[in-house]
Amino acid sequence: MTQSSLLLIYTGGTIGMKQDAADQTLKPFDFSQIVEEVPEIRKFAAKIDSWTFDPLIDSSDVEPGMWQALARLIQEKYDSYDGFVILHGTDTMAYSASALSFMLDGLTKPVIFTGSQLPIGVPRTDGRENLISSIEIASAKDGEGHAMVPEVCIFFGSQLIRGNRSIKANAEAFKAFQSPNYPLLAESGINIRYNTECIRKPLDWYQNISINTRLDTRVSILKLHPGITPEAVRYFLCDQVTRAVIIETYGAGNAPSARWFTEIVREAAGMGKVLVNVTQCTSGTVDMDLYACGKGLEKAGVTNGYDSTTESALAKLFYLLGKSGDNEWVKDMMKRNLKGEISK
Ligand code: ASP
Repeated sequence: MTQSSLLLIYTGGTIGMKQDAADQTLKPFDFSQIVEEVPEIRKFAAKIDSWTFDPLIDSSDVEPGMWQALARLIQEKYDSYDGFVILHGTDTMAYSASALSFMLDGLTKPVIFTGSQLPIGVPRTDGRENLISSIEIASAKDGEGHAMVPEVCIFFGSQLIRGNRSIKANAEAFKAFQSPNYPLLAESGINIRYNTECIRKPLDWYQNISINTRLDTRVSILKLHPGITPEAVRYFLCDQVTRAVIIETYGAGNAPSARWFTEIVREAAGMGKVLVNVTQCTSGTVDMDLYACGKGLEKAGVTNGYDSTTESALAKLFYLLGKSGDNEWVKDMMKRNLKGEISK
């Protein structure tokens, strides 16, 4: 038996549902009873407390306010626990895990998001295994007594994924998440096999956590497609409100070479907007030097998003724009690897 203590934070989503014996409907599960319901978890932590958000939400309703509440809760409880497991709906889990990875600085303890495709209270649920393994990972220590995974991660369908590298890739399968551009941090089978070289470690294990809760959400996402009109492109890139736009481009970061397109991009860049090039492909990286149309974007003032997921680029922009009103600084920081979110 380990001496770890964990905080289980329940925000909502499918995992927390249980069939009511009386009327067979799905009702939220009482996580304060979790140790009685899933006694296996006792093996991994001496103390497991739970914290339930009110109201519980379907993760399609997640807003940055929820991320701020989570960051504050983790900071407030940080010294009392060895790790945190966040139960969250799958639909926006990759956004939330990406956001928390930027909002928590100086992390020396695990913050593991998990959920399930089937409610924890139905017979074939994937929720029990996801929960049990998340608890095991959140309480795991190395030979020196440090956390095995001092990162914000998602554990799902036997895979541990860095939060800001994750995408929800399947609406039905138990392996619902992928890490297209970075190795898995661990995989569970008979044992949990950690990919130790790929796990980020803090420079100082004894530092204090700090949180960044100022987020500026004046960001939009423009997905390119054949037939896109100048009006649509102008609407997204040149409006007066947004400070940044993620342009989801083709392949290695390519966009139409039509003059009207480049002119609108130049106009938006001239307005001081942060324009970030992220590929629509699930895996691989933006390389704006590869094709003339990519180079054209770079010359017009578009910033390389490298192999970032869209979810992570969005969260990083919210965080950076919240930190500074200087868009040039934000552009520069977008190109840097801050929390393992890009391969640079
Ligand atoms: N719509 C649900 C949610 O994201 C789906 C799930 O939990 O898997 O909250």
